[in-house]
Amino acid sequence: MSNVLVTGGAGYIGSHACKALKASGFTPVTFDNLATGWRDAVKFGPFVKGDLLDRAALDRVFAQYEPVAVMHFAALSQVGESMQDPGGYWRNNVQGSLNLVEAAVAAQCLDFVFSSTCATYGDQDNVVLDEQSVQLPINAYGASKRAIEDILRDFEAAHALRHVIFRYFNVAGADPEAEIGEFHRPETHLIPLILDAVERKRDALTVFGTDYDTPDGTCIRDYVHVCDLVDAHVLGLRWLQADRGSRVFNLGTGSGFSVREVMEASRDATGRDVPFVEGPRRPGDCTKLVSGSTRAEAELGWTPTRSTLELMIHDAWKWHQTGHYAA
Ligand code: UDP
Repeated sequence: MSNVLVTGGAGYIGSHACKALKASGFTPVTFDNLATGWRDAVKFGPFVKGDLLDRAALDRVFAQYEPVAVMHFAALSQVGESMQDPGGYWRNNVQGSLNLVEAAVAAQCLDFVFSSTCATYGDQDNVVLDEQSVQLPINAYGASKRAIEDILRDFEAAHALRHVIFRYFNVAGADPEAEIGEFHRPETHLIPLILDAVERKRDALTVFGTDYDTPDGTCIRDYVHVCDLVDAHVLGLRWLQADRGSRVFNLGTGSGFSVREVMEASRDATGRDVPFVEGPRRPGDCTKLVSGSTRAEAELGWTPTRSTLELMIHDAWKWHQTGHYAA
């Protein structure tokens, strides 16, 4: 069996990647400090509790499991938090990734799949974003991810570390079998917050800004189903293993939905009203982030099958009602 080191494998996207890797014949080895992940989410391979800032722990995991590749998900990932604590984002995300990359090179594990973000593009009003778009992040989260992309390019030139970089748009939904799903404490993401509000598990949703330059005044995002997203990662791994070279891929669908549209779709999917209030803008938020690229489909053969708003909310709602991790 081929081991793949999955950092952040106890988190939302990482745990879905582990399930997809296992289904594709790999053994996912999760390395996670459980700062934002959940032990209960590690169901598809071995678990190593460890921190990316601990280089010796990384060296041990490479020596013990001899992974053929790395999938690097572990990161702090909240735009708002990154504006308040940029130091935490630069230390955890950039220093942690540098340790990981150096440990991978030392172990001669040279295939590296990295989860980056459309937040590296910044706020380019109504520009259709593709992989060549200029990267001008407007928050510390996006800046930290752009820096890691630069590290990967430098390490390719110097040490032959091959990378596939995925720039995600907004990830939503859950495993249709509801074995794993999205669970953050505190929760900050739109769809789980809406579902909590629907169930009256929290106060009404606050809509962050209704005066954006969009048709209904709320921000527009490109939502991708987490299962489609992780399928692209398995394709990215095979791409590297087939020696096709380092490459960047946007993972979006090309369709954008406003906050109000997501609320409407949630009402339709759950059959219940979404309690909400209108509030001020959230610092660091871009007006519109939508991918215009079909590179992943054309080159990787990626075919998203569950990334309709209806199915994403359907799967998120199923998980929301049945699955939870022990905090
Ligand atoms: N959003 C909102 N209220 C909330 C959380 C999010 O209006 O309580 C909006 C947010 O401003 C953004 C969209 O929903 O326009 C998606 O935000 P999320 O935090 O889910 O993802 P992000 O776009 O920051 O990656």
